[in-house]
Amino acid sequence: MSDGARPEMRREGIAVSPGIAIGRAYLVGRDSVKAPRHHVEAEEVEDEIARLHRAIVASDRQLEKVKQKLASENESDFHIISAHQMMLHDEHLVDAAIGYIREEKINAEWALRKAVDDIRAVFDAIEDTYFRERASDVEFVFERILRNLLGRETGPLSPPPDAIVVAYDLSPADTAQLHRAAVAGLLTDAGGKTSHTAIIARAHEIPAVVGLEDVTEVVETDDLLVIDGSTGVVIVNPARETVVEYREEQRRQAAAGAVLLSNRDLPARTKDGVDVALLANIDGPEEIESAIEHGATGVGLTRTEYLFMTSDRVPDEDTHYRQAVEVIERMRGRPVTLRTFDLGADKLAGFLEGEVQEANPALGLRSIRLCLTDLGRPLFKTQLRGLLRASAHGALRIMFPMISGIGELRAAKAVLEEVKEELRREQVPFDEAVKVGIMIEMPSAALTADLLARESDFFSIGTNDLIQYTMAVDRVNEMVSYLYEPLHPALLRLIASVAKAGRAAGISVTVCGEMAGDAVVAPVLVGLGIHELSMSAVSIPEVKGALRSITMSEVERVVERVLDLPTAQDVREAVVGYLGGLGVKTGSS
Ligand code: PEP
Ligand code: MG
Repeated sequence: MSDGARPEMRREGIAVSPGIAIGRAYLVGRDSVKAPRHHVEAEEVEDEIARLHRAIVASDRQLEKVKQKLASENESDFHIISAHQMMLHDEHLVDAAIGYIREEKINAEWALRKAVDDIRAVFDAIEDTYFRERASDVEFVFERILRNLLGRETGPLSPPPDAIVVAYDLSPADTAQLHRAAVAGLLTDAGGKTSHTAIIARAHEIPAVVGLEDVTEVVETDDLLVIDGSTGVVIVNPARETVVEYREEQRRQAAAGAVLLSNRDLPARTKDGVDVALLANIDGPEEIESAIEHGATGVGLTRTEYLFMTSDRVPDEDTHYRQAVEVIERMRGRPVTLRTFDLGADKLAGFLEGEVQEANPALGLRSIRLCLTDLGRPLFKTQLRGLLRASAHGALRIMFPMISGIGELRAAKAVLEEVKEELRREQVPFDEAVKVGIMIEMPSAALTADLLARESDFFSIGTNDLIQYTMAVDRVNEMVSYLYEPLHPALLRLIASVAKAGRAAGISVTVCGEMAGDAVVAPVLVGLGIHELSMSAVSIPEVKGALRSITMSEVERVVERVLDLPTAQDVREAVVGYLGGLGVKTGSS
């Protein structure tokens, strides 16, 4: 039995970010803006009410501004916003929320949610559709107050330090802010191994388990949790002896991590002397210190879209320029690759809200397609100007994401040429020889890699998406994650052909999807002819350990053999067998 009255309960999900975390649960609501729910102490009640009042005043001011802008354009919108302003001060909302804070000692966000639910129940019971539809106005007002309560500047979620955040799902933007809140771990009902949420958790070394399906229903705020981000095991209300056992394991892992980190300054060189470049994937310059500490010899992928996702403002040219210069300078002469913004699907930015609504966002207007679409603002050109100006400060490679074929590549390069021409006219310095490459992340690109290689300076294979589009399996959908298999023969063949096309054209080919950071898979990639791997920095020491144990000539033979095997399972067994024989820890051996 556990310490408290409730028995220990185990769940298993998808392990996405290794490490063990032991801590108290912090449950996040399922609203589109996440409303945290927790109890407050009696002496905090008045502070909570004051927070609510401040958020209402801020919401009122924002609506007033919007209204002023609309006044000359659209009278009906003007009236709707006036109605929303009135709702902000409606006693059924405000007094009811205050009542909940006082009586139930809960935080303002939760109290507000309850008050809104009460109002919705009244609207829902009305036959008249006009009145029923007013329920959505209440939701809009709720969302606005909520955003102000949460202070989007500082981040939408504010869990206490060392909490384990439990949510139905977390947006990549939420997750990106969570590491600053020093959370101990993350658990979600939804998600898959290469969802961006998982990638960010790994980047920040936050143990995480996703795809748990019903964890938000079985866990309550303040429950004690043990999570193992390597096995996917989650224990709710663990017994005393379970906690002791996991603390031991935590200590063992810390010691093993220290040993692995000690290979930081050694080259990633096979036993027969072939060097492999191990690079880091980063979301921004603040991750560079960790990248260098883990032994990254360059940055293979900068996900610049985080500039859009973590701020309410669309980044201007100087913001792009400053970020790129910071990456170059902090990497002190090591090579860096910046990808132009890859927004859409699960990576959403505020400015896109209401702009793009699609039935199949993963197949829709995302990434380079969005860059090449006129959204009324020159977002792509602005970024390219910033990146080109930064290229005057050091070696920088520009990479276009989600290129489907030559047509799109030419279109993107044409915009780049226009920008170069502008800069030349303005006599603004930039690197005339800046390298321009593409991500290969859909079958159409992989199958035409020989053609694309003629017009690209380098390739980077984005296997997270390449798997998604090859296997027709949504990378964030836990129900089909069993099909998400990096070692599927179809994948291996595609990667092999891209590597071959790159070699024939004499251009470099990197793999920057998450599979590059898997110590079992990385040797296979190397055997397929990939000599540059870019990954979450935390994975570098383990991958390096594996690569330093293999012999290139031998791994090439193994790979030649596995390319003929019929299933991913067969491939995995063969590779694990080979690596196990060399004493490489594979997790499955
Ligand atoms: C990929 O698709 O493999 C990739 C690296 O890009 P992202 O994960 O950002 O989509
Ligand atoms: Mg991708």
